[in-house]
Amino acid sequence: MSLGAARRDLHSRAAFEQAKRVMPGGVNSPVRSFSTVGLTPIFAARGRGSHIFDMDGNEYIDYIGSWGPLIHGHARPEIIEAITEAAACGTSFGLSTEMEIKMAEFICKSMPSIEMVRMVNSGTEASMSALRLARGYTRRQIIVKFQGGYHGHADALLIRSGSGTASLGLPDSPGVPDSVAAHTLTAPYNSMDSVQLLFERFGEQIAAVIVEPVAGNMGVIPPKPGLLQGLRDITQQYGSLLIFDEVMTGYRVGFHGAQGLYGIKPDLTCLGKIIGGGLPVGAYGGRRDIMEQIAPVGSIYQAGTLSGNPLAMAAGYAALRLLEEPGLYEELDRKTAKLADGFKENAKQTGIPLQINRVGSMVSAFFSQQEVVDYDTAKGSDIELFKAYYAIMLELGILTAPTPYEVGFVSTAHSDEDIEETIRAHYRALLRISS
Ligand code: PLP
Repeated sequence: MSLGAARRDLHSRAAFEQAKRVMPGGVNSPVRSFSTVGLTPIFAARGRGSHIFDMDGNEYIDYIGSWGPLIHGHARPEIIEAITEAAACGTSFGLSTEMEIKMAEFICKSMPSIEMVRMVNSGTEASMSALRLARGYTRRQIIVKFQGGYHGHADALLIRSGSGTASLGLPDSPGVPDSVAAHTLTAPYNSMDSVQLLFERFGEQIAAVIVEPVAGNMGVIPPKPGLLQGLRDITQQYGSLLIFDEVMTGYRVGFHGAQGLYGIKPDLTCLGKIIGGGLPVGAYGGRRDIMEQIAPVGSIYQAGTLSGNPLAMAAGYAALRLLEEPGLYEELDRKTAKLADGFKENAKQTGIPLQINRVGSMVSAFFSQQEVVDYDTAKGSDIELFKAYYAIMLELGILTAPTPYEVGFVSTAHSDEDIEETIRAHYRALLRISS
């Protein structure tokens, strides 16, 4: 079935019913249920480049990109080859391998603030471990995070969070003990004044501020000028650590992450997504004196049966090496700007109020009259309009995140034709919802 023909969902619907009997909500991660948009979820069958094919034979241009990891699109041959080669030698040893050193050296060389790194298995693990390290290092307990910021699902970080919790309206999860939540303070994103107030009151007890240097879990929200420098200064002033959660932005907004883009060095950085090449990976790293507090050198414990897994390292390293190609980020930027400009023009032509936020190859479109700068303004966008728009886009073969609180990712595999096709579909969708 070709791109843009009416979507068939007979098999996906049956699969969803079957899945719901044995998996909560029929899924292994909430946003996959498409419940925000009230549609049958897509059951993916295969992907190739920028396109994805579902089990009903529908084809889509994919801007979910596995929620960020697939900067090279689906089934990039060099990555598949690296995984295949590694798998032939054994899938896991629980012992050190040479590839882990290559990976660590690559990360230390390319991320400005990282002197040492520890591999884990997900972004959640990375941020959870970075928090423990920050608390152990500073011997303080309080952490500061931003409303609508998502750092995975560790207890201390599921407070006023974004991503699926925002989409489902569950920014504070039951099951998080009050005693844990009490140590997490939140501030509105982009509000240095609020952070200042928290520090004036609790500064001596704050172990760390954790921030997505470009917010990506309430849609894309760029940091206002001065935010990241302000955080750097205030954490230094009070002896707290600054943690950049670059699970999404690392190698996405540039080869040196958001820290390279904005020229700010955090004490610790969390990574994930792209560095796994589509396999489950996370990492946290930073200043040597802090990282050396982790066991076995120091006493702060953190471990993992599958950490540094040979397949994940091979896939991630292959993906990272491909990013060294000269001009790659400029090209990603050009294509994403073309997409964003096309969306803006469509909004103008159809009179639909749309706010387009973009940083590098991360892009979001909010149905809103007002500029989107934080969680409250993101939540102020029109969800009903989004649902109507989303259903039409899917019919037209364009797959984006089924919620306005996630990001669209452009990959190196998206062609100019893909972008143009998407802009045309977007125009048709806006026309239909405006009538
Ligand atoms: N941090 C950020 C910024 C993320 O976007 C995510 C996931 O979307 C995470 C952490 C959690 O990563 P994972 O889903 O791999 O646990």
